[in-house]
Amino acid sequence: MADSIEPENGSKYEDTLKKNINDLDLWDDDISDEILSSYDIDILSMPDEKPRTNKEMKVKVGIKVSSEDHGTPLERFRPGYLWVSDLTKQNWCEQQLYYSFTMSGIIEVNPVVQKVMTEGSNLHLARELAVHDTVPVKVTSNEDIWAIKVINLLNAVQGFLNGVTLAREIPIFGAPFQQDVFFVGLIDELRFDPESYNIDLLELKTKAFKSPPSKAQKSQHRLQVLLYKKLFDDLVKGNLSKTTVAKHLRLDLKRDFGEAVSLELTKHLVEFKNLDGLLDHLFQRMQCLTCVSQLHIEYVHQESKQTLYHHTEDYDDDDLSNIFEDYLKFWRGQRPVAGVDIEEAWKCQKCDFADICEWRSKKSEEYSSKNKDKMK
Ligand code: SF4
Repeated sequence: MADSIEPENGSKYEDTLKKNINDLDLWDDDISDEILSSYDIDILSMPDEKPRTNKEMKVKVGIKVSSEDHGTPLERFRPGYLWVSDLTKQNWCEQQLYYSFTMSGIIEVNPVVQKVMTEGSNLHLARELAVHDTVPVKVTSNEDIWAIKVINLLNAVQGFLNGVTLAREIPIFGAPFQQDVFFVGLIDELRFDPESYNIDLLELKTKAFKSPPSKAQKSQHRLQVLLYKKLFDDLVKGNLSKTTVAKHLRLDLKRDFGEAVSLELTKHLVEFKNLDGLLDHLFQRMQCLTCVSQLHIEYVHQESKQTLYHHTEDYDDDDLSNIFEDYLKFWRGQRPVAGVDIEEAWKCQKCDFADICEWRSKKSEEYSSKNKDKMK
């Protein structure tokens, strides 16, 4: 699998590009996967291993802060597109997601959660390296970066068409439900059956504890695999156009690839000098496959590496469409931000924003005035 590496320091152009590459946050969906795994009631309710010092408490997470308060959340916080993990975090608590953009300075890095995330990342990496090596490729433009994603997706597709049965860490993207919002994600695993042509999708979740995943976690993971299937199937059905990709990712389809990316393409026996030809080729290959048949979620114990639980999820297009529409209203600034319902108030207990959360104090006032009314 090709992996982008940043260009060396040098010209102003390269400095700007480096910044843009950082903004692109290449594999955010994968990293966030570990963050999602840390949203575990067992971990949230765990005391720290040792009392944290003031210094540790003040460590800040490097999430961008927007000083501007105009524009929609989509315009303010994201570079023209969303990650699948943005919606899964929103599924946990939209208010928390909002604060993570606007108040990131008060996020505390909990060493226990950090350790769980690192263990989870290592397990994902070990699984990835079991099926392919990663090859660093020097990128010189945003077009190069997206070419690498396309090459990695194309590798999986071409592999299936050649009889390979397993692919891991597969980039996926698209603009589902004709909502004019672009999404990027990273599928953990696809399994191909050369006999039936069935493709199964599997999402790996690691757990520090052997307890079953909570209802809230399952809801996040369900949304994640449903959206991955939608994005994959849209490509199989030919529902994505080059102009949509170029518009949302702000790419010049006719811009020539850099030398390293061109060389990488020839290694994969395809020769295209820009995204225009490469995307045509990808779309044509994708349409030779079938839609995803089954959705699996596997929960693996971090210490023993044993599979603890395995769920299959039924795809429901109407359900996904309804969730999607509601969530996009937030991103488009069409409704106010919302926090958790009373049934999920346990999430607030270890939330970094609990002390300043307006939603939480509003709900608490509402419930205490209701209780007073009942007492009258
Ligand atoms: S305190 Fe509760 S409602 Fe507020 S951001 Fe945190 S989890 Fe969400």
